[in-house]
Amino acid sequence: MKKIFITCLVALISLFNAACQKNEFGTVDLTIPEDVYTPVAAQYTFNHPCGMFNQADFDRVKSMLDDGTAPQPVKEEFQLLKNSRYTMVPYTPSPTEYIVRGDATGVTSDGKENYSKAMNDAAAAYQMALLWKLTDDAEYADNAVNIMNKWAEECKGIKSNDANQMLAAGAQGYTFANAAEIMRTYDGWSDTDFEDFKKWMVDVFASKNIDFMTNHQGQCDDHYWSNWDLVNMCSYFSIGVLTENHEMINYVVNYFYSGAGNGCIKKLVQGVFDDPLGTGEQIAQNQESGRDQGHASMSVAVAANLCQMAYTLYQSNTNVPELDFFAANDNLMMKMGEYTALFNLKNGTDNNNASGQWLVTQSEMPFNEYKYCIDCSCTSNNHGATQSVVADDEGRGKFRPGWEIFYIHYAKIKNLSSGYTYAKRFADKIRPEGGAGGNSIYGTDSGAFDQLGWGTLMMYRE
Ligand SMILES: [Zn+2]
Repeated sequence: MKKIFITCLVALISLFNAACQKNEFGTVDLTIPEDVYTPVAAQYTFNHPCGMFNQADFDRVKSMLDDGTAPQPVKEEFQLLKNSRYTMVPYTPSPTEYIVRGDATGVTSDGKENYSKAMNDAAAAYQMALLWKLTDDAEYADNAVNIMNKWAEECKGIKSNDANQMLAAGAQGYTFANAAEIMRTYDGWSDTDFEDFKKWMVDVFASKNIDFMTNHQGQCDDHYWSNWDLVNMCSYFSIGVLTENHEMINYVVNYFYSGAGNGCIKKLVQGVFDDPLGTGEQIAQNQESGRDQGHASMSVAVAANLCQMAYTLYQSNTNVPELDFFAANDNLMMKMGEYTALFNLKNGTDNNNASGQWLVTQSEMPFNEYKYCIDCSCTSNNHGATQSVVADDEGRGKFRPGWEIFYIHYAKIKNLSSGYTYAKRFADKIRPEGGAGGNSIYGTDSGAFDQLGWGTLMMYRE
């Protein structure tokens, strides 16, 4: 025992000597890099459903809808969901042998782009799953399960002649996984069919998600804008929950804190500044802020969905504080939301009013110069750009559902007294925020399906 102790002590001392260096500032410990991160290797407790929402969330909303005490915006969004074109029963799914995204020219034998079928059906499965939980109406449950069974039966994979297929693997992956996470508690979904569906999610979606996050299509790790990583992180995380795969969840948690690509918090945020309007708040530039506002808004909305899913799991796993992505790095996600909300908000109630005044001008917005793929290892090196101002483009001011998540989480769940001024203003302006197919403000483009929506219904508190 004594011998072991001495051996260890000697080893420790020599390690200390090797790792330390004396310089003009004193002794510097070289073993600790600036941003030490210890990877999470947790085993999780799953209280299903635990995707975007848990049973307590559904109970809370259902009871106030049932007894009529729900706030008016919640009632309105419930009505929007019931009127959504994706919750009209009977719903006929359109599964395809392959999901093709990015093959619009049809130059491969796979034929032309068809991912909208998966996009529509995944949204329908998710929306009917929500409705089943809130109404107990088995017709919604049976239709949601039927969609998922048909896809698992017929669809063999995702492909195309370019990288865009990875967006389908992400966005449709987490939509399907969240629908299934809710429906797993329905006794009308047979064990065999549920097992087949989980296998389908792993084979078809998770395999693409991990490939993308690991390899980034052979390009440099900074090549794909943050939203590409984020949808794949959402998908891999939610499939991890669905299949109770601890390693998949740990992978995403660790990627969020120290991953190579732009979905990692260290790259997702490109600078923290004081609010130029003098609220005393801090705002944080998004990796896509200099690209265009449509994509910056997507990045923020998808990040909000990721934070929400991780937080739901955190509620049954408070011994893994890393799961609280909302709280990470001093509420950095809130600050990132504030930057994008501030720049995309107009005065008054109508954000679409062409003559409406923006809250800030482009030149008033603080911005850290961003070098996109400059001197990188990408195979094609002629696409780099140096951005020196926030992008003021046509997409500025457009709505995406997601502001409710940030506002309600920080203001009503964490009970912070400040820090979310602009998320609140955006959420107030949109509410009820709705989701794809339930509200014409999002249209039918893929952008409406990048995030799950329905945040007012499931989260709003007065
Ligand atoms: Zn590059």
